[in-house]
Amino acid sequence: MPLSLDTTYKDLDSRLYSRAKPKDVDSPEVLLLDEGLCDDLGLNKEELNGRILSGQELLEDPIAQGYAGHQFGRFTFLGDGRAMILGEHVHDGDRYDVQLKGAGRTSYSRRGDGSATVSSMLREYLYSHAMYALNIKTSRSLAVVETNEAVTRRRVEPGAILVRVMNSHIRYGTFQYVAAQAPDELQRFTDYVIDRHYPQLNATDRTYREFFDAVMESSIEMVVDWLRVGFLHGVMNTDNMSIDGETFDYGPCAFMNYYDEATVFSSVDRNGRYAFGNQRPILRWNLARFAEALQPLCTQSALTYDELELKLDEFEDRFDARYYAMMRTKLGINSDGEEELVDEFVEWLRKSNADYTNTFLELETPGTFDDPAFGTAEFEQLRSKLAAVGLDEESMQEANPRCIPRNYLVEQALDEYLETGDLSKLEGLLTVLENPYGAKDMDSQFQQPPPREFDAKYTTYCNT
Ligand code: AMP
Ligand code: MG
Repeated sequence: MPLSLDTTYKDLDSRLYSRAKPKDVDSPEVLLLDEGLCDDLGLNKEELNGRILSGQELLEDPIAQGYAGHQFGRFTFLGDGRAMILGEHVHDGDRYDVQLKGAGRTSYSRRGDGSATVSSMLREYLYSHAMYALNIKTSRSLAVVETNEAVTRRRVEPGAILVRVMNSHIRYGTFQYVAAQAPDELQRFTDYVIDRHYPQLNATDRTYREFFDAVMESSIEMVVDWLRVGFLHGVMNTDNMSIDGETFDYGPCAFMNYYDEATVFSSVDRNGRYAFGNQRPILRWNLARFAEALQPLCTQSALTYDELELKLDEFEDRFDARYYAMMRTKLGINSDGEEELVDEFVEWLRKSNADYTNTFLELETPGTFDDPAFGTAEFEQLRSKLAAVGLDEESMQEANPRCIPRNYLVEQALDEYLETGDLSKLEGLLTVLENPYGAKDMDSQFQQPPPREFDAKYTTYCNT
């Protein structure tokens, strides 16, 4: 089957989006295509050539969505500045946005060029693949198509278009946009989002309150999953928070190696607003902004703002419940409770600054890694305590990846492509990352954290 597009977003008020046209691309070259995703979407890969994947053969008029967002705490009107939704593809009763990122300027581009570099689109492809394989709800990358333009960022590079697939690209920031630009539309818009993402709520009697509750739950689930694998999103602005709990916008993201909650890699995050350990309080802050965006509904329906605030007050307990449950699976504890032991273990991580991923593998099979942090009496004592209540292998193997995208390996693979045009290193990495919980016999280079100096200097960038 080819893409079959039917874009319900266009039935919404015309203030919410604008028409967009992908730029002309001569000789688009498909660098990567996710065949598994083609199958999941019922697409025939033979029919997906570079022209279709770069928006040169349109099935219907693409749109760019308007949205707003708190960027590093400051409210701004934004919108798809370099992305356009080709349409909504429906397969097996499920609806997906098919979006081109880097396909040219839109009415929301402001001063931007509408383009993306090939290294940043390959990078997003790799991280979204890794997250998907880690069983984390995420945007997916169908393809990376290189264009023959030169894009200037820190260096000059070929441009590329990423074909991104999500349940939708609706974000907290879309609600902020509607609340500010078209408050009279908010109820209809919210009903649309509920029908599309949370249809089970239509059977409840307080739908909007339960909607807020469900968004909070899916977001908590997402961030707890990030903490499970050491993922640092890097730019948790409200415009990058999916309404359906999908991780997306893989700009300055990275994985933490040495455990330190203050870890920040993004060049623009000078105050550590989006540091690894701040992801939880920032989620709460973002949810408070989302609740404010729902305020117009309080005059249009039975919803009251007090109800939303009461829901927000539940945040810490609900996050704790999911967080401790997740940490128990990482430590192989199959019973409830044991919060103090989890806290003691995390305190050890803080003090030792050990490699986060490998610590759990070492707990499971002592002697796996030759790291002085694991040879201490303190680690041994902690391991004995854990063994008394946990260290269940089966639970640990499901929760603890044997490999993550190590930042330096990702950068080496991207550099190799830029320097030689050879994708084999990147493809090799993608293959290893496809099976993060299984393969016990993987090449140990994929499990090696980088030298500490590398991580200390490692910098990631937005909008590249
Ligand atoms: P992000 O940091 O990726 O969430 O992007 C923030 C905003 O900047 C979004 O509205 C993007 O669409 C926009 N943007 C980023 N890069 C570009 C670009 N090269 N051209 C136009 N808009 C851009
Ligand atoms: Mg964004």
